[in-house]
Amino acid sequence: MQLLSIKDCDITGKKVFIRCDFNVPMDDYGNITDDRRIRSAIATVQFCLDQGCAVILASHFGRPKGEFDAKYSLIPVARRLHQLLKIDIQMAEDVIGESAKHLAEKLQGGEVLLLENLRFEKGETKNDPILSKALASMAEVYINDAFGVSHRAHSSVEGITEYFDDAHKAAGFLLQKEIQFFGTLLERPVRPFAAIVGGSKVSGKLEALINLLPRVDKVLIGGGMAFTFLKALGHNVGNSLVEDDLMDEALKVMEEAKRLGVKFYLPVDVVAAEKFAPDAASRLTSVQEIPQGWMGLDIGPATVRLYRQVLADVQTILWNGPMGVYEMDRFSRGSNKIAHFVADSYATTVVGGGDTADLVQRIGLDEEITFISTGGGASLELLEGKVLPGVKPLMKK
Ligand code: AMP
Repeated sequence: MQLLSIKDCDITGKKVFIRCDFNVPMDDYGNITDDRRIRSAIATVQFCLDQGCAVILASHFGRPKGEFDAKYSLIPVARRLHQLLKIDIQMAEDVIGESAKHLAEKLQGGEVLLLENLRFEKGETKNDPILSKALASMAEVYINDAFGVSHRAHSSVEGITEYFDDAHKAAGFLLQKEIQFFGTLLERPVRPFAAIVGGSKVSGKLEALINLLPRVDKVLIGGGMAFTFLKALGHNVGNSLVEDDLMDEALKVMEEAKRLGVKFYLPVDVVAAEKFAPDAASRLTSVQEIPQGWMGLDIGPATVRLYRQVLADVQTILWNGPMGVYEMDRFSRGSNKIAHFVADSYATTVVGGGDTADLVQRIGLDEEITFISTGGGASLELLEGKVLPGVKPLMKK
């Protein structure tokens, strides 16, 4: 898939609107606890500044209820941008109100304006054309660099693109990199190619699994979703997370894997716990001997060993979804061990956004991974084979 590139756009000296994803984690005191998303946007912003552009930045942050709420203000993001770009950042008090319009109008080349949280406007998530038009009217060029929200048809992501022709809109560097990486992964992976798929439920990953099967050589399942497969195969999985209504689908996936010659691996042992709690009594057990009423909350050491062996000869690894309840120390070991193995591997390693990116960062392995996506939901939709609504209008015709 070829995207309209920022490099093919004549942006010199123009006013550009860059949709970013500054939806960063913040503590109760307004401190940004992980600024990766802001740092990831800098390449595009700096490129535009270097071309003498006046740069208008816009992003959502959290889930305010369509009106101003100081708790969700982007002021801390403006401060961080100032530190990273080392220039003054003008901050609008609103999104399309008097303050934003006035500052956007008088913005000069080499200056940066950050609009307030896009979700202070009710129309943003409804793809309201009035909001799209108002945002579009601020600039001559539109750039989308917000991969993490490109699976949403929102005003600043999808609707706004209608107001710019192909010579005046483009994908930023981050968006381009994400789309290229997943494109290569799905269309031309270096083989053998293994997908490690975990997380809570089968329902969240079923479409991705179905789309991945014809493209991979091996699938390794972990996390809560493993238990629907195990139960479908006749194991007694106690109180583990199971989606009974998806057991038939799970069987079909395994049959399809067999038909395609894809090696399909399930955990052979688990850390079982008496209840879903960080201090729950727990023990290692094979998947065939989970005690009645107990639940599997992590993969066990035999599974880790098996998965390491299975991954030893692969050239490409895609990992989406933790192997267990990694947020609780007692059930994080399986995910940590797999993370270390993936990080040490010579294969090309790709980690889907969201929880998996979070866990890899927590243990400080993010520098060792070939590519970590900045969008959990968006990368999952790419794995499902979908064209993202924010990306479609930026595809080269
Ligand atoms: P997802 O959003 O589907 O990728 O799922 C991530 C969540 O799955 C994390 O919050 C994990 O705590 C959770 N998870 C992983 N393994 C299990 C398990 N065995 N039982 C229940 N939840 C799990």
